[in-house]
Amino acid sequence: VHDVHIIGGGLAGSEAAWQLARRGVKVRLSEMRGGGGSTPAHQTDGLAELVCSNSFRSDDDERNAVGLLHHEMRRLDSLVMRAGEIARVPAGSAMAVDRDVFSAEVQKALEQDPNIEIVREQVDELPTSGLTIVATGPLTAASLARSIGKVTGEDSLAFFDAIAPIVHRDSIDMDICWFQSRWNKGDGKDYINCPMTKEQYLAFHQGLLDGEKGEFKDWEADTPYFEGCMPIEVMAERGVDTLRYGPMKPVGLDDPRTACEDFPQGRWPYAVVQLRQDNKLGTLWNMVGFQTKLKYGAQVELFRTIPGLEKAEFARLGGMHRNTFLNSPIVLDRQLRLKGAEHIRFAGQITGCEGYIESSSVGLLAGLMTAAELGGRSWNPPPATTAMGALLGHITGDAEADSYQPMNINFGLFPPLHDVKKKQRKESYTGRAKEDFGRWLEELAPLPA
Ligand code: FAD
Repeated sequence: VHDVHIIGGGLAGSEAAWQLARRGVKVRLSEMRGGGGSTPAHQTDGLAELVCSNSFRSDDDERNAVGLLHHEMRRLDSLVMRAGEIARVPAGSAMAVDRDVFSAEVQKALEQDPNIEIVREQVDELPTSGLTIVATGPLTAASLARSIGKVTGEDSLAFFDAIAPIVHRDSIDMDICWFQSRWNKGDGKDYINCPMTKEQYLAFHQGLLDGEKGEFKDWEADTPYFEGCMPIEVMAERGVDTLRYGPMKPVGLDDPRTACEDFPQGRWPYAVVQLRQDNKLGTLWNMVGFQTKLKYGAQVELFRTIPGLEKAEFARLGGMHRNTFLNSPIVLDRQLRLKGAEHIRFAGQITGCEGYIESSSVGLLAGLMTAAELGGRSWNPPPATTAMGALLGHITGDAEADSYQPMNINFGLFPPLHDVKKKQRKESYTGRAKEDFGRWLEELAPLPA
């Protein structure tokens, strides 16, 4: 007999199980690997398998947002951070682990916990009752994905991410760019526009053709991503002007720097790159229609040739992968519960966070929320100024639902600190976060002795 059913024994599901069990909650943890199922990326039956890199990224909790997330997770006695410490291998200021030791440590801790029953089984349908956490990850089994899609509506469940690069607003040169929506529609100023001359456009087009691209894996190749969102370099291959009739269309956009007597608002440039606001804070802007398989280095080099983006800082670069994820800002409430079926919570990458640590931290939060619900306590989320609070806020409502794509933790998700010099900003973000997190922790129900 269990209190909570967790589906998926990856990073998020394992962390959620640990947090619940530590609070005396009985958990059934269903994992399909070892029970007849698998994913194209996993190689073992071990819980919390790291499917690719062995790095948890930066462990610097003073200047780095993911390092800050490590710090907050440690303060909540995260299993992922505990096992990570045991499995740690040298990696400078980053935290890297021996993946086999890591997975074995997570599994051992969960197997030894009397509150946890690990069941090797594939779950094909969303349970109709009973508190449930779905943490089946970016490669959720197709049967369960279908069942989720039935409840959320198919438009709210994606099978591929098509990520356009996201730029920090304060790194865009507004002496070159200007605010305007095409034909001044909406409130007339919804987009940031970067103008290009013919020469700049032709050089950029050539750069797209020449840039080094990543390969699709065999198991990704047959996913229908091309229908809605073609990579920008594939559009470039179709003809020199294809982009000027697509995402780089200049019509209806008047560059004020070219204003003259005949064109008092300014003239249309030869081509335009548009950026659209990506979060409610207005700190992050995405490059509209710029989903790409260009390698990261090639993206940075080429996109910094765009006028106004010469010093662009990227909160994330573009990418395209197979990835099952929800349009969480629409379908989940602030406690990660499915609207209309509140017994079901989602956790991990399926909520639209990205990365091992981000997925684990959302699993951790889902565990805390569920424990509070079972204990009849009200849930007070971590402040928006903390890494966990910022990530949770992004997933559950602060991101723009129209362009929702998986996101790593980054300082662009935090409420901005305008009055601090740029050089000290990172330390100021982490300093503020640690203080606020400490206060929040004091109010959190303590673990039973
Ligand atoms: P997972 O860790 O994938 O866990 C989900 C679990 O649910 C799996 O064990 C799966 O077997 C199980 N499951 C699925 N469906 C069912 C079902 N119906 N019934 C029962 N069990 C089920 N992030 C990084 O930080 N660094 C990287 O290098 C990196 N590389 C990646 C490479 C690939 C190919 C992919 C797909 C993702 C990568 N990620 C990476 C992103 C991501 O952070 C990880 O996928 C992370 O493991 C997500 O954690 P999770 O718990 O949400 O999902």
